[in-house]
Amino acid sequence: MNQTQEHLAFRESVRSFIDRDLEPRYESFIEQRCFAREIWRIAGKAELLGLGVPEHLGGSGAPDWGYQAILGEELARFSLAANSCFAIHVDVVAPYLVELGTSEQHQRWLPGFCSGELVTAMGMTESAGGTDVAGIKTTAQRASGGWVLNGSKTFITNGGSADLVVVAARTTPNARSRGLSLFVVEKGMAGFTVGRKLDKIGQPESDTAELFFDDVFVPEENLLGEENSGFKHMMDRLPQERISGAVANLAHAASILEDTISYAKERQAFGQSIGSFQGMKFHLAEMATEMEVTQAYVDRCVDRHVRGELTAVDAAKAKWWSSDVQGRVLDGCVQVYGGYGYMTEYRVARAWRDARVTRIWAGTNEIMKELVGRNLGFPDVRHAGRAGSE
Ligand SMILES: Cc1cc2nc3c(=O)[nH]c(=O)nc-3n(C[C@H](O)[C@H](O)[C@H](O)COP(=O)(O)OP(=O)(O)OC[C@H]3O[C@@H](n4cnc5c(N)ncnc54)[C@H](O)[C@@H]3O)c2cc1C
Repeated sequence: MNQTQEHLAFRESVRSFIDRDLEPRYESFIEQRCFAREIWRIAGKAELLGLGVPEHLGGSGAPDWGYQAILGEELARFSLAANSCFAIHVDVVAPYLVELGTSEQHQRWLPGFCSGELVTAMGMTESAGGTDVAGIKTTAQRASGGWVLNGSKTFITNGGSADLVVVAARTTPNARSRGLSLFVVEKGMAGFTVGRKLDKIGQPESDTAELFFDDVFVPEENLLGEENSGFKHMMDRLPQERISGAVANLAHAASILEDTISYAKERQAFGQSIGSFQGMKFHLAEMATEMEVTQAYVDRCVDRHVRGELTAVDAAKAKWWSSDVQGRVLDGCVQVYGGYGYMTEYRVARAWRDARVTRIWAGTNEIMKELVGRNLGFPDVRHAGRAGSE
């Protein structure tokens, strides 16, 4: 992407946050299987959390989305899980609160959102299916002064830590995508409980949880956006989540590929560096080429998003392709490290495990291809869910 002097200075400040504040505490986050509240507050003080929140609403009001891309790149270079937990807050939830919130909601939530006092999560997926968003089963029934929610969500990033969860629930039965609304459910509301921290194959430090709603009374003031427009609200905001993911996927793989190239220069076999064998050299050359070509497309998408011109199809292409490239490159890097590549004390091994999910979350890669294919003039599959139709 095109970077100004201000972008470069911001990149330096993100790197300082990572080196000074995140890295020294990181092992404890892995042990606790979540990011401690302290680091959210430090990130808030460093004005990293409110990039997408205008200054007059208490945020740091970044002049363009490139600043969020830089934050995402630097976090993902350090750890994909750090990126995913912060990106849910900064890139995914912020647009819901800022764009759909009333001024009363802005005043109530945004100061804490920006300072790190309030950690947020996005609750779409349910155990019966994440792809078919229009089929959401959690219900919200009208009651005096508000709504009563019943149901559950699963795989929710920041789910255990979150103070505010944007929850998609059915307000009109049998209306598929036209019957969903969004609610902000707050920690401590009676009947709202968090289940176990889910045990994942990667990203142990990101807190991924199940959420349960058992007759949770949610006051009218916590309806976010328009009643029965929840599906549209979500589909309008998924492209930012996907380009944010694409930026992170590539930065994460690029950082490991750089390490791998250095390793291939140092590691010896048959009295010479392993990278000097033609088989290895070609392997590394292919990975470097695939990364650079993909970066050009993702950068173009970032520039479009900065100008407000990114389409849902551009974002879908960037999301599925970057996550496939990330998977191939990290698998190839493990191969270069040989047996060490399989040892969890090596970054490359952890990165390989951490990255598997990027082909699944934020809309699976099959659904991204459904969206791209539909744009080529082929008919929708019925109920395409996260692809943005019923
Ligand atoms: C670590 C992690 C963190 C997550 N964080 C969040 C979060 O913060 N908030 C949230 O709401 N969700 C979150 N998710 C959920 C994620 O978005 C879903 O897992 C994803 O959308 C897929 O839904 P599913 O797992 O129910 O799979 P299913 O919907 O059951 O799909 C299973 C398979 O069928 C395929 N499939 C389904 N429909 C079609 C079709 N029409 N055409 C072709 N193939 C199809 C899918 O591509 C997939 O391969 C997270 C998931 C993980 C693993």
